[in-house]
Amino acid sequence: MKKIPVGVLGATGMVGQTLVQLLDNHPWFELVELAASERSAGKSYEEAMHGRWNISPEMPVYARRLKLKECLPRLDCKFVFSALDSSVALEIEENFAKAGYGVSSNAKNHRMDADVPLLIPEINADHIDMIKTQQKLRKWKGFIVTDPNCSTIEMSIALKPLFDTFGVEKVTVTTMQALSGAGYPGVSSMDIIDNVLPHIIDEEEKMESEPLKIFGAVRNGRVDEARFRISAQCNRVAVRHGHTEAISVELSRRAGEDEILSAWKDFNPLKSLKLPTSPEHPIIYHTEHDRPQPRLDANLEKGMAVSVGRLRKCNILDYKFTVLGHNLVRGAAGAALLNAELLRSKGYI
Ligand code: NAP
Repeated sequence: MKKIPVGVLGATGMVGQTLVQLLDNHPWFELVELAASERSAGKSYEEAMHGRWNISPEMPVYARRLKLKECLPRLDCKFVFSALDSSVALEIEENFAKAGYGVSSNAKNHRMDADVPLLIPEINADHIDMIKTQQKLRKWKGFIVTDPNCSTIEMSIALKPLFDTFGVEKVTVTTMQALSGAGYPGVSSMDIIDNVLPHIIDEEEKMESEPLKIFGAVRNGRVDEARFRISAQCNRVAVRHGHTEAISVELSRRAGEDEILSAWKDFNPLKSLKLPTSPEHPIIYHTEHDRPQPRLDANLEKGMAVSVGRLRKCNILDYKFTVLGHNLVRGAAGAALLNAELLRSKGYI
């Protein structure tokens, strides 16, 4: 099969470099275009990333000599991943969609637009058809699909089998989020060493609103949002990669611990699609009392698995448990890539 040429906007950031890494030897896509701000444009990727490549020991060879361009819709491909800072993503992504490019975005700007899919393929693959409404309403030849906030993705994956099997009424979540979630250079070392920061801008609002769209049902090209309630408290901690979340949940019907464990174990809705980035086990339950941990578990299934542990009764809601996911992979670059693979398998690319 001839590979599909693709580009990355925001290729120099934390999510952008993770995309460059994940697209190395990808079976369906060939990364041919890299773009970032005018500060980076004109440099080779290797030159621009000097001192900034930090997710693996070596930058993939194929990317080193690629020249960074500005984020203008003149790239030699028809599909782009956006890992742009949200201060610039809105306009740039729209310019690409108008010019006929498909855009798989990590940025927050379009996530809650009524005609833009907010996709987690394991949960709401059918939302992809909202693209048709989007193209009709906006008169675009291209389109935008988005992935959710990183903390939202891992929480939603852990909740999905519970939502389907027992129903979900209420969720409380307290996050301990990694530094790479703040981009590069991110949080100052003086602010985070020996410290916890009890606020991440807009994060709680995203965690409380995005799942309702993700779990909603599409009717006539629009999402009828799910109705459960979520209360989130988000903290930045001195961990490099991997967001940990302490979750409590009230279910709509009674469930035994064994039933919950088997709902998580059996969860693999994408199996038949054979998407290259889809993990064999989207949810891994850890029986040890001190797991999951970011250092031990964030990279399971090449960073695409969500780890769950410590399922036990909650004195206020029904059950509580701990969830962990790799924010750069499952929570961003890997999520955008899985969305692109779904688009390809459904004929949108
Ligand atoms: P980052 O490290 O700060 O990277 C930002 C990127 O945006 C860089 O490539 C930068 O290029 C580019 N950029 C900034 N200003 C620009 C401009 N005026 N024109 C064109 N490009 C410009 O941020 P990140 O952590 O990778 O996050 C990227 C996006 O993904 C954000 O929207 C973020 O909210 C979202 N996200 C991040 C995570 C995570 O775990 N980090 C998770 C989920 C979603 P230069 O290097 O040239 O300035």
